[in-house]
Amino acid sequence: MKKNIAILGSTGSIGTQALEVIDNHPEHFSVEVLTAHNNVDLLIRQAIKYQPNAVVISNETHYSYLSEQLNRFDIKVFAGRQSLEEVVAFDTVDMVLVALVGFAGLLPTLHAIQHGKAIAIANKETLVVAGEMVTRLAAKHQVSLLPVDSEHSAIFQCLVGEHFNPIEKLILTASGGPFLGKSVEDLTQVTRQQALKHPNWSMGNKITIDSATMMNKGLEVIEAKWLFNVAPEEIDIVVHPQSIIHSLVQFRDGSIKAQLGLPDMKLPIQYALSYPYRMENTFKRFDFADFSSFDFYPPDRKTFKTIDLAYQAIEEGGNMPCVLNAANEVAVEAFLQEKTSFLSIADIIGETMQQIKCHSYHDIEELVETDAEARQKAKELINHKK
Ligand code: NAD
Ligand code: MG
Repeated sequence: MKKNIAILGSTGSIGTQALEVIDNHPEHFSVEVLTAHNNVDLLIRQAIKYQPNAVVISNETHYSYLSEQLNRFDIKVFAGRQSLEEVVAFDTVDMVLVALVGFAGLLPTLHAIQHGKAIAIANKETLVVAGEMVTRLAAKHQVSLLPVDSEHSAIFQCLVGEHFNPIEKLILTASGGPFLGKSVEDLTQVTRQQALKHPNWSMGNKITIDSATMMNKGLEVIEAKWLFNVAPEEIDIVVHPQSIIHSLVQFRDGSIKAQLGLPDMKLPIQYALSYPYRMENTFKRFDFADFSSFDFYPPDRKTFKTIDLAYQAIEEGGNMPCVLNAANEVAVEAFLQEKTSFLSIADIIGETMQQIKCHSYHDIEELVETDAEARQKAKELINHKK
């Protein structure tokens, strides 16, 4: 049976690669909803090609242009954040691929789960901010949460057939990003351009900066905790610059399983869309002849302070991971706009975490409040540092 898919963030790195996967399997998938924030021209081209039931432009200022360009087609056009929550609930949607970036993914994901939609989740920020609530709700509505992030897809693949076997340890691999091996002194003058040059992966700007600061791995530890129900101390990080081993699971008999492949997000995206089946494809294959060795190092937590901040946030629990995430989003955006330095990103996050009270949360409104408060605080800190 064909799966009807809603892609939130279809114009981004994950969104466009998901459409490539779908192009190769038109008999299995059809595109029901496409959404974007600012890239209205690409959204129009995608809408004309895929003829979805609906499109959403979450930045409302583009609405009139979008609806004008699509008015000769039988495609519903919506605008605004609220619309993301409405379109995921359509009866015709089977699966929602959450491929938009940041906190903006949280409410539509919760809404999709409440409406019983299968979720393929690339948007790690949602699990960082509200992993407890999201996983609890998914269990309640018997909805599958299928990881797209390559490390988590690797772990998920290692766990197939291991339902009864407790996990002793998860080992997340990290490429180390563009500044692997650098010292704090080396990083004082880092530019936006240098930080955006990832050695192995081509991704959106926000996650590329997260990879450079290593916050991406910190966020992934929190993501893994919720997806696989493990304690933070059972999650290790190992730097593996080749990005071929995507992550590993150690079981209680000491046996370790790993998943390998070239660094290409199309594979984890396809696996999430087709799970539990594996579909054939023509993606380039890994060849041992191209790699004479694999390297492994412990992460440098002194230089890359974001890793400890993420462990600290998850240890404190409650709204603290939400604070971590909000401060990070603000600091990364400020760095991208050249309003703050590379090294100050971690300082801003750490200071924001110190200044906002940690408390448990009971509903989503409290997290929305924490997010706003932490953003405000991080912005003040950035202005103060200038
Ligand atoms: P991207 O910046 O390339 O694309 C983001 C998409 O989200 C775009 O379609 C954009 O229009 C939309 N968007 C941006 N801000 C929005 C907002 N406020 N409201 C609604 N929509 C908005 O990002 P990406 O690299 O594709 O990453 C998407 C998500 O997937 C992130 O959470 C990232 O951490 C995760 N992820 C990405 C990769 C990767 O290889 N790119 C790998 C693993 C996980
Ligand atoms: Mg990843």
